[in-house]
Amino acid sequence: MDLKKYITIVPDWPKEGIIFKDITTLMDNGDAYRYATDQIVEYAKEKEIDLVVGPEARGFIIGCPVAYALGVGFAPVRKEGKLPRETIKVQYGLEYGSDVLTIHKDAIKPGQRVLITDDLLATGGTIEATIQLVEELGGVVAGIAFLIELEELNGKDKLKGYDVLTLMTF
Ligand code: 5GP
Repeated sequence: MDLKKYITIVPDWPKEGIIFKDITTLMDNGDAYRYATDQIVEYAKEKEIDLVVGPEARGFIIGCPVAYALGVGFAPVRKEGKLPRETIKVQYGLEYGSDVLTIHKDAIKPGQRVLITDDLLATGGTIEATIQLVEELGGVVAGIAFLIELEELNGKDKLKGYDVLTLMTF
């Protein structure tokens, strides 16, 4: 299936000069959403995954159906102040300024094999921060899966040494 035709390109959103890749037109098509999910499940199957972890909010959309299909749990990574119990946090750089991502301290047991999911790899900052959280809790990053990679931003450079799947490149 040609998944690219389900991605809508939105120029100048959220601000001028950004060419946003809208995945909602993939998600709201049952065949395309299932196909994309199945590709990631197939990739993850042999990796003995114990847990799927994804950053809010689109990392949930990709990761939760994959976790369900693998028969494992899902642990959310969220912005500061969103998770109700004890968390660990990591600060990461954005184009302007920085942000903080958190995960529940008891979300991962040491040695658990984790699949990280998100919709899109751009600069790699978000996923790098997510990896840091997983590893700080003793998790082993067994794979990282994205729908989309924006090649010219070289996010993959931050993921050297990790096993990465991307279903589409722009
Ligand atoms: P990075 O941290 O790799 O620079 O940016 C990736 C994060 O920003 C992802 O969590 C992703 O959801 C979001 N993001 C950045 N650009 C886009 C885009 O064009 N489309 C979508 N769907 N998400 C984007």
